[in-house]
Amino acid sequence: MNYKIPRGTFDILPPQSAKWQYVKQSFHKVASNYGFEEISTPIFEMAELFERSSGESSDVVQKEMYRFQDQKGRSFALRPEGTAPVVRSYIENHLGMQAAHSRLYYMGPMFRYDRPQAGRYRQFYQYGVEFIGSNHPFYDAEVIALEMDFLSELGLKKARLEINSVGCSTCALDYDKALREYYKPHLSELCTDCKTRYELRPRRLLDCKVPSCKAFRTDAPSQFDYLDAPCREHFDQLCGYLELMQIEYTINPQIVRGLDYYTNTAFEIIYDDLGAQNSLAGGGRYNALIAQLGGKDTPAIGFAGGFERLLLALEKEGIEIAKPLKPDIYLVLMGEIAQTTGMEILRILRKRGLYAEYNPEKTSFKAQMKAADASGARYAILLGEDEIKENSLLIKDLSSGNQNKIAGKALAEYPF
Ligand SMILES: [Zn+2]
Ligand SMILES: [Zn+2]
Repeated sequence: MNYKIPRGTFDILPPQSAKWQYVKQSFHKVASNYGFEEISTPIFEMAELFERSSGESSDVVQKEMYRFQDQKGRSFALRPEGTAPVVRSYIENHLGMQAAHSRLYYMGPMFRYDRPQAGRYRQFYQYGVEFIGSNHPFYDAEVIALEMDFLSELGLKKARLEINSVGCSTCALDYDKALREYYKPHLSELCTDCKTRYELRPRRLLDCKVPSCKAFRTDAPSQFDYLDAPCREHFDQLCGYLELMQIEYTINPQIVRGLDYYTNTAFEIIYDDLGAQNSLAGGGRYNALIAQLGGKDTPAIGFAGGFERLLLALEKEGIEIAKPLKPDIYLVLMGEIAQTTGMEILRILRKRGLYAEYNPEKTSFKAQMKAADASGARYAILLGEDEIKENSLLIKDLSSGNQNKIAGKALAEYPF
């Protein structure tokens, strides 16, 4: 039996794993600059959490969720996204009582049973932030700024920001009315699902994937034109803050959100060179979600992005983010006493934070020197009978070939 990795998943192998590490560390760093702290939630949650947050009829819940029953018959799901678990934890741990604002970030694998394709996997790695506790548009801008800073920290230059407002439940009423008026003459041409949507939730008409329904979307009224005064004001203030923060953006009224808990700001980070899967990250306000999941009515905004596409984008721009690991020092030891001393040298070097390597399987001087060169190490430390007698070490710079003899006890201070 040859075991194979499940379809839609991948191993992160060296040296690629160094890039992942680098990207994650950069995100830790940038998130901290904004006062965000890490939260880790379990890989699986009660399936009901996602049914409640995404809606039972949503594609995620219906088709894409990895659902399983445990030994006691309880229904769980591998998390398909990060926001609902964070909100569950926020409510369960009363984080809202501890501080007016909760600034949380997370990263980790998420799971969706989806058709695998370039940049889309069944186990994929997301990073995201949630800012809970204020409806002020300044925080919308800050959350966006955090993501843009992260991308520029990595050196990405071609990522673009698109923003929109999806309004609130009040402006949605006017918008639903406008949508009904627009779709009414086409009602007979819509699919069965859309006929139901027309009655119950006209905004969902825009999400339909049936080509004949999709065709109507182009000329459909835009929610952006139906914002009420407070929502318009929120959006204008967001634009103002983005300008003050020198963040470029374009307004794209086509950014829609299928779920009712989304309010006001919606945004996406687009990377055009990635083709069909060109969204690096997406987010927005979800002022209605916390109450929907049983918490106190609390405004919030966040975003999530995928590491896979981020790494693809870095590749497209030819950004070399992490170099393969190479030893700082390679030990070349001749004779038994040298080997004994060599173990002490390794200990000293590693204690100094240097990557030191030795291979006891290579015995001849020639083979050891060859291995030292092949390893890409910056220095070799040579230790043979002469050096043992003098209690000294020979340090060789492997790129210049220069050698330097030092006293053994000087090793702890030697400037490598
Ligand atoms: Zn509104
Ligand atoms: Zn339809």
